[in-house]
Amino acid sequence: MGFNETVLICDEVDPVLNKVLQENGLKVSYEPQITPDQIKEKISNYDIIIVRGRTKLTKELIDNATKCKIIARVGVGLDNIDESAAKARNIRVINAVEGAMTAVAELVLGLMLALARQIPFADREIRNGKWLKKELVGTELKGKYLGIVGLGNIGKRLGRLAKGLNMNLIGYDVIPIDETFSKEVGLMKADLGTLLSSSDYVSLHVPLLDSTYHLINAEKLATMKKTAKIINTSRGGVIDEEALYDALKKGNLGGAALDVFETEPAIGNKLATLPNVICTPHIGAQTKEAQSLAANIIAEKIIQILRGVI
Ligand code: NAD
Repeated sequence: MGFNETVLICDEVDPVLNKVLQENGLKVSYEPQITPDQIKEKISNYDIIIVRGRTKLTKELIDNATKCKIIARVGVGLDNIDESAAKARNIRVINAVEGAMTAVAELVLGLMLALARQIPFADREIRNGKWLKKELVGTELKGKYLGIVGLGNIGKRLGRLAKGLNMNLIGYDVIPIDETFSKEVGLMKADLGTLLSSSDYVSLHVPLLDSTYHLINAEKLATMKKTAKIINTSRGGVIDEEALYDALKKGNLGGAALDVFETEPAIGNKLATLPNVICTPHIGAQTKEAQSLAANIIAEKIIQILRGVI
């Protein structure tokens, strides 16, 4: 059975999404460069709106989406969608929670290794004509304590990968952590304070909510080991960047690797001027596999919703 719903895709997504929707009869407008004003003008014509991270679906835009039944985010975080405005209009909001877990967890591993061995710095210095072999004595991840804050899809995937490197795992979540998983990887459950004070590496995997905004602030950073390193691939607002900058600058923290920032694009962010900081431009989910998986998941969910299955 074919459908005849209209779909507006507002951001660049894997072509498989467009293909599957069209094969099922949906009428797709693919407009990856569309501006908020243009969306406002035409949003009332569409049954389904699809975004990634670029487009912000504000209350104002959603209030104009008079025909809309589904808003889909081809990714995980829903912080670019005003969910309460969607709920008020009875619009289903869906995302692809499992799509990015391997991509993000593997990036965290890469960032931890890069921090431990100062890989970006070593590369830069060679380009500057310097061979700093004696100066570049790193540390190993084996045997170090990795504290994972938020044991959802990505946190758990990271736990499994880090176990493969013989790291010791400490976990904190606001909901009970899966027992089978904890046993499998030998994860010790702890409160946030214990996790922060005992870990050599802390990796954040919580959503950005009112309750997680500046979850890691000056007070919490002060409880961490001076040699500890923090990795944030969740959302910028989860760490207070001013407090992080101070802690790193004063030598109260060993280092940080950041894929997400309070304001993006984070060009000119002063954290990027510090030698013990590694920055990446929000590339956690930027793998071919993750993009195609997320697009497939969203296509499947939309078809299932239209069929009344979910
Ligand atoms: P998830 O929903 O599977 O897991 C999140 C976990 O955080 C849940 O177990 C939840 O109980 C826990 N949590 C919520 N509030 C908490 C708190 N105050 N303290 C401790 N734990 C808390 O989500 P996920 O798929 O694992 O994604 C995690 C984060 O990664 C999200 O912020 C998402 O936006 C982000 N993300 C980033 C990228 C990227 O490109 N860097 C890609 C995908 C996802």
